[in-house]
Amino acid sequence: ARPAVAWIGLGIMGSPMSENLIKAGYSVTGFTLEQDKLDRLAAAGGTAATSIAEAVKDADVIVTMVPASPHVEAIAYGPDGILENAKSGALLVDMSSITPQTSVDLAKAAKDKGIRVLDAPVSGGEAGAVEAVLSIMVGGEQADFDAAKPLLDALGKTIVLCGPHGSGQTVKAANQLIVAVNIQACAEAVVFLEKSGVDLKAALDVLNGGLAGSTVLTRKKDNFLNRDFKPGFRIDLHHKDMGIVTDAARNVGAALPVGAVVAQLVASLRTQGDGGLDHSALLRAVERLSGA
Ligand code: NAD
Repeated sequence: ARPAVAWIGLGIMGSPMSENLIKAGYSVTGFTLEQDKLDRLAAAGGTAATSIAEAVKDADVIVTMVPASPHVEAIAYGPDGILENAKSGALLVDMSSITPQTSVDLAKAAKDKGIRVLDAPVSGGEAGAVEAVLSIMVGGEQADFDAAKPLLDALGKTIVLCGPHGSGQTVKAANQLIVAVNIQACAEAVVFLEKSGVDLKAALDVLNGGLAGSTVLTRKKDNFLNRDFKPGFRIDLHHKDMGIVTDAARNVGAALPVGAVVAQLVASLRTQGDGGLDHSALLRAVERLSGA
């Protein structure tokens, strides 16, 4: 029989991911803060719980997909949290993007309760979640990775154990650095092309066929063309991730000269009230700098 799954955090990513598990035949009991998301889980064939404790008490595997380190700490620790209420022997797969140190600390605290942990953040965005083609970067023990692999196969396509606890988060931090710099480069090109009077759609199509092509350009082309900044991946979350990669890189003495500038531009979008927009809204920062 497939393991019983508890899913905590049914947001933009967690909802479609948990539904993919249900489609693959898993029984999923979920908990999240929004009632409409709990209703959506029930409509998809899952079970809506009224607390974390209720969701996790009979689970063999617990998946968490919440915004940031403080949320993971809030749901893991404390009397109502995962560690107090999960069965000994359960496997906790945290798919949130958080600091590597939070993942290391969580694995250590869980071990005392007989709970095994993997950090397993993802890349591929909402579309990757819906289509079950995410890249999943995992940190932890080989045996736990092997145990989780069939379940992860129902969520993603490229699933790699990167090293010990925290390694998945370190790789995800690098992912976010690359994505932000790539979006920024595309945004600068878009403003340059428009100010030059070139047909933007034609330009982006031909650029995407050459060395300038990228997943970012493919996925975000319509956002740029239509100035459609509905998230997707919110600026607030990318701001969090630029903080993670900046700190982690400083800790190991790696320079991020371009990443640091892009981190500032992401931060400036938040102070201008654009934190809830998709990260393709970096275009707005370039437009403001260009007087557009
Ligand atoms: P989201 O804000 O849409 O969803 C987060 C969910 O967590 C919400 O449903 C909220 O109810 C739940 N939550 C928060 N605190 C909780 C608590 N105490 N108890 C129970 N539930 C709680 O965020 P998202 O876009 O789904 O992102 C989730 C994580 O995945 C983030 O770490 C993000 O960086 C990462 N991520 C997002 C994307 C994307 O494209 N959106 C892509 C890759 C990775």
